[in-house]
Amino acid sequence: MITKPKGTYDVLDKEALKLQKINRLIEYTCEFYNYDYIRTPIFESRELFHRTVGETTDIVTKETYDFKDRSDRELTLRPEGTAGVVRSFIENKMYGSNMPRKLYYNGTMYRYERPGNGRNREFTQFGVEVLGSNDPAIDAEVISMPYHMFLELGFKDLNVKINNLGSKEDREKYKVALKEYLKPHLNDLCEDCKKRYETNPLRILDCKVDGDSTILKNVPSILDYQSEESTSRFKKVLEYLNFLDVDYEVDEHLVRGLDYYDYTVFEIVSSEEVLGGASTIAAGGRYNDLVETLGGPSTPCIGFACGLERVMLAMDAFEENKKRPIDCYILYVNEEEKIKALMLAQDLRLSGVSVDYDTTGRSLKSQFKEADRNGAELLILLNSEDLQKGLITVKDNVTKEEEKVDENEIIDYIVSR
Ligand code: ATP
Ligand code: MG
Repeated sequence: MITKPKGTYDVLDKEALKLQKINRLIEYTCEFYNYDYIRTPIFESRELFHRTVGETTDIVTKETYDFKDRSDRELTLRPEGTAGVVRSFIENKMYGSNMPRKLYYNGTMYRYERPGNGRNREFTQFGVEVLGSNDPAIDAEVISMPYHMFLELGFKDLNVKINNLGSKEDREKYKVALKEYLKPHLNDLCEDCKKRYETNPLRILDCKVDGDSTILKNVPSILDYQSEESTSRFKKVLEYLNFLDVDYEVDEHLVRGLDYYDYTVFEIVSSEEVLGGASTIAAGGRYNDLVETLGGPSTPCIGFACGLERVMLAMDAFEENKKRPIDCYILYVNEEEKIKALMLAQDLRLSGVSVDYDTTGRSLKSQFKEADRNGAELLILLNSEDLQKGLITVKDNVTKEEEKVDENEIIDYIVSR
């Protein structure tokens, strides 16, 4: 038997229902917030991720699926969505007068990680990117939107962690202070962090190994190394979040695992127990330099990405996940009735009624059971005798009342019920 690759999974039955529910919510939420759908390739040139996500981040050093195609092109399965959207923004010259561009995506991402609860090698991210606005109101919108979407889905205890990474100059000042503070403790840090100390000291704050150590708990606060402009911008973001009823908490240690972030960074954390260590369901931040780094015009941007598998996992705590019921089930016995069933089912479906009928040779008795299993509220009982008189029997599967309806009026009769 051939089995699925490690770290991948099939979405079916209850999981599929949850995913469909989330996808519907995503679509209409994005419509109301005026975000346009964008789809970019699942693989891109390897260089794109090295230049954006960052050479020294875990994602690029340990987690990417890199491969060469048959013409020796160096390609990578996308580990995240922002790089592709920004590449597309520049390549399609989306900049110009219609700023900001508010975009959303929803698709699979690939990271070579150790699979576990809420952690897969193929996983799905829904995310938004706003390109071309530096207004703190947009920061607040991009945080508030997923936050309120999760509340609508049924999440209860949500917490938004937010921090300000400031400008590049702010971070340079902070890096000096951070390195000075960490210097005497270097030997107590993990091997990765020792390397990060030279290559990318900010990454140390994001370390999964050292994260909870007292050394890291007492690092200087990044918020103390920022310009006045940067500080007041952050205050404005928090003020707007208050107005939008977002329950947040400033976390001075939050840096996020990607290199391109500046100013606002945030995570939305759920306290649902089923999530265990995978409690971050969405995360994002501002990336004002990325478009320029990739060769486009200077464009301030912000976005977030949400891991749908984690949302689905958490939904187990508050979702029933019953199979979606159909409106109508048609029962028949002989070939004449079957042809009528086929035609009637098609007419009803085209009229917006969900209908099904048996295609496995079930007895009449088991067709009734099948109708119940599908949650059908209405039964259409076809029999040749009725049909010859131009009549069709409709049975209310809840009250068990039956009625004979004129064949020519059956569609209207059912649609209007
Ligand atoms: P973590 O700290 O859990 O590794 P991350 O910082 O790598 O997360 P991001 O790159 O910010 O995550 O991705 C945003 C969201 O995507 C995460 O908050 C999470 O919900 C989801 N996500 C990330 N990696 C995975 C994965 N391997 N499997 C499932 N979901 C994931
Ligand atoms: Mg990760």
